[in-house]
Amino acid sequence: MYESKTEWDVAAQSRVCTLDDYKGVEARWCPGCGDHAVLNAVQRLARDKQLPPEKTVVVSGIGCSSRFPFYMSTYGFHGLHGRAFPVACGIRARRPDLHMFVITGDGDCCAIGTAHWIHTIRYNMDLTILLLDNNVYGLTKNQTSPTSRRGERSNTYPNGSFLEPLNPISVTLGVANASFVAQTVDWNPPHLYNTIRAAYEHPGAAFVRILQRCPHFTSHVFAEPQRDLSQVLLMKHEHGIPLDPSIAKMFPNTVEHHPHNLAEARALAESADAYPIGLFYRNENAFRYDRATSQGIHMPAAQKLEAVEKNLERFVI
Ligand code: SF4
Ligand code: MG
Repeated sequence: MYESKTEWDVAAQSRVCTLDDYKGVEARWCPGCGDHAVLNAVQRLARDKQLPPEKTVVVSGIGCSSRFPFYMSTYGFHGLHGRAFPVACGIRARRPDLHMFVITGDGDCCAIGTAHWIHTIRYNMDLTILLLDNNVYGLTKNQTSPTSRRGERSNTYPNGSFLEPLNPISVTLGVANASFVAQTVDWNPPHLYNTIRAAYEHPGAAFVRILQRCPHFTSHVFAEPQRDLSQVLLMKHEHGIPLDPSIAKMFPNTVEHHPHNLAEARALAESADAYPIGLFYRNENAFRYDRATSQGIHMPAAQKLEAVEKNLERFVI
């Protein structure tokens, strides 16, 4: 009988993933596109957290940013326009073990996908949701999106758009059971990374709007806050997004904001004077639909069938 260890025993090697383990095909976004920065941040996070690539899923809809899954060497689902959310919720409902990122754009999320966005926030399943908002439909070549500012010219509104833009942060904060709402910018890598990391670590649906540069069509849109930091309002708090003091002190405008204060979060979201960045709101105790509906998820198939048939008896007349 084999009992003792010998020199032939092979110990299992612990696996360490490097950045290359998360890199998919070469990104085809335009040079200078803010999507590159978000991709780098997500790949770094995956490396830092040592997420097993085979246990990680990136789900997207349609648009420039929705090419994201191709650029990650994980599982991915490039869905239909506006449909990243229901696909992600479906996966999460049956697979609580996976690490999940949802990538969507302002056209994808705030136009055709609006109903799915609202209800995904309400259901509060464990998802890291990144809205890459460049104020334009980029993939379809410069069309006005719901977040385009009034008066912005595009191929669909050559004389300037008529309507005030939709505010994705205000909308999300207005949804019952929202549990994590943050805003960051693609051009500040430490803040971008720390925000995505905090979103990933939050147990529930974490919604992050990322102000994203599109040098091809809307290069002017975020040029001013990028050049002039006084146009950005940094929300600070010990329970907010951590930021190295050497970077935080570069922001002349800061505000102490407790992320449990929903009324103040809503007021900050409406602020017209500056672009607020940081954590607007967090509720760690919000109801989780995926938890409530995962009971019996590992039940053997025969037992599940028996339970279903038993329930069907209620409908016998
Ligand atoms: Fe990025 Fe804009 Fe180019 Fe699309 S069109 S890849 S959003 S820079
Ligand atoms: Mg867009």
